[in-house]
Amino acid sequence: MIRKCSLEEISDGRLYDTNDMVKAYCNECKGCHACCEGMGNSIILDPIDVMRLTSHLGKSFEELLTDEIELNVVDGLVLPNIKMKKNVCPFLNAEGRCSIHEARPGFCRLFPLGRYYENGGFQYFLQIHECKRAGKTKVKVSKWIDTPDIPRYTKYINDWHNFQKEMQELLKKKLLEEKEEEARNLTILVLNVLFMGIYDDKTDFYQQFDSRLAKLRELIAVK
Ligand code: SF4
Ligand code: SF4
Repeated sequence: MIRKCSLEEISDGRLYDTNDMVKAYCNECKGCHACCEGMGNSIILDPIDVMRLTSHLGKSFEELLTDEIELNVVDGLVLPNIKMKKNVCPFLNAEGRCSIHEARPGFCRLFPLGRYYENGGFQYFLQIHECKRAGKTKVKVSKWIDTPDIPRYTKYINDWHNFQKEMQELLKKKLLEEKEEEARNLTILVLNVLFMGIYDDKTDFYQQFDSRLAKLRELIAVK
């Protein structure tokens, strides 16, 4: 999601790489679940999140849409996000813990870190106004985001980000040319190819994503 605020306003002014230490560790959030409530539609899911959720919950993307997730327009694209129930994440259990911890979305893995994209890549930043927990200690960024194979994950996040940027430009162009229906069809195509259907959790996710993205690019090129 594009944010229109300066890094200085929301961060400690530093950018972090995956091997850097950042003051984000909050003692496993014991006794707190503040960021699992009142998040509106901001917990946006990317394809790897959907693969983790569908595999962990044994439900298809379409089945998740009946209850746990919903679709919203984000910078022109239609993307899934966690659907809050009475302002609370549906995966927060009665003990105030995440019931899908190992399959939680990238947004939750990152929080309170964010990503800052620049010059074709990205670094991490610490959002200083988000997690109010006092006494946070330092943790390595790679450990905090709790995701295996960081180099491939980083490439995937970049590819996904760059693809969204390209699509946003293309959709903007279509709308300027008053081709609303074509723009709408493109957003549906992205959803169908990158999110619908099962990602096989026994097969390498990144290969599956790359091949879906290549197929999508071919389909967009002939439109
Ligand atoms: S607000 Fe901070 S301490 Fe509380 S659950 Fe979120 S990350 Fe953990
Ligand atoms: S998925 Fe888990 S960590 Fe993320 S908001 Fe929901 S309960 Fe919290």
